[in-house]
Amino acid sequence: MAKQEVTAGVDIGGTNTVLGLVDREGRVHLDLSIPTHAHEGPETFVARLAKTIAEMAKQTTATCDLKGIGIGAPNANYYRGTVESPPNLGWKGVVNLVEMIRRTHHLPIAITNDANAAALGEMIFGAAKGMKDFIVITLGTGLGSGIVCNGSLVYGADGFAGEIGHTIVDPDGRQCGCGRKGCLETYASATGICRTVSELLCEERNESVLREIRPSELTAKTIAEAARNGDAVARQAFEFTGRVLGLKLADSVAYTSPEAIILFGGLAQAGELIFEPTKRHMEESMLNIFRGKVRLLPSGLKEGNTAVLGASALIWNELPKR
Ligand SMILES: [Zn+2]
Repeated sequence: MAKQEVTAGVDIGGTNTVLGLVDREGRVHLDLSIPTHAHEGPETFVARLAKTIAEMAKQTTATCDLKGIGIGAPNANYYRGTVESPPNLGWKGVVNLVEMIRRTHHLPIAITNDANAAALGEMIFGAAKGMKDFIVITLGTGLGSGIVCNGSLVYGADGFAGEIGHTIVDPDGRQCGCGRKGCLETYASATGICRTVSELLCEERNESVLREIRPSELTAKTIAEAARNGDAVARQAFEFTGRVLGLKLADSVAYTSPEAIILFGGLAQAGELIFEPTKRHMEESMLNIFRGKVRLLPSGLKEGNTAVLGASALIWNELPKR
C-alpha cells in the first residue's frame, strides 16, 4: 500500500508545544504534546523539538511519508523564518527557528504566527474551504487575525501584516500590552470581556452572580454561563464586546471586502452570545455596499486539533509551490 503523505504541524505555546502528523485531508495520524520549557533557551528547545519530529516520523514510517514542517509561533516572521522577542517565551531578540530545525530536517519548513496559521487551517481544512477572501479572528487571551485576500494570506512588506487586534478603538481607552491605549484586543478577547465585567461591577449596583467570583478567577466561560442564565451584567458585557468588535469588523470589511469573517478561539465558543451582537453591530456600522454580504461563521476545524491543523495547513499551502 502506498504511504500516506503527511506534514508535521507544530504549535509552539508558552507552556506546551503541540505536534501532529496531518495528511492532505486534515486527518491527524499521530499527535502529542511536549512541554515548551522556554526558559531553557531556544537552542535546547529546538533540539528537543527536532528530535520529537524525527521520532514521530520513525514511529509512522510504515504508513506515512513526512513531506514538510509547518510551525505556528508567537511573533513569527514568515519571510525570515524567525520568531522575534516572543513575549510568552521570554526569548530575547531574533531566533532563527526555521534555520535551526533545517540543520536536522532537510524538508520544506515554514513558520507564521498562530492567527495566520488558523486562517490557512480554515482555508484548507475548515470553514473557508473554497473561499479566496476571508478574515479569521482568534479571540483568545488577545485578538489575533489572519487576512486572506485573492487566495493568499496577507503578510505585508515585513511579514507582520494582519494585526487587527491592535487597531485602536479608543485612544484614551484601556492600556494594551503593546504599550498603547485602547486597542481592540483590550475589549474583544477573553481577557477583554473579563475587564468589561470588572468595570461593570464597579460602576453599577446591579445584582450579578459574577460578584461572587474573585476577579482573578473570572473567565470568558463563567461569563458565558452567567449570561445563559440571564445575568444582566454578563449579558451587557457580551453586548458591549459585540458592539466594539462589530464596529472594527465593519472597518476591516472596507479594506478587503471578504465574503466571510470566521470567529475562532475561546471567546467564540460562547456561540450566539458573541455572534449575535457582533453581527448586528457589524451590519449597522458597515458601508452600505457591503451590507448583508459578509457571513460571520464559527471555525470549521475540529476542536482540540485546531492549532496543529493550522500549522500543517501552512506547509501544505507551500508544497505545490516548491
Ligand atoms: Zn495594542
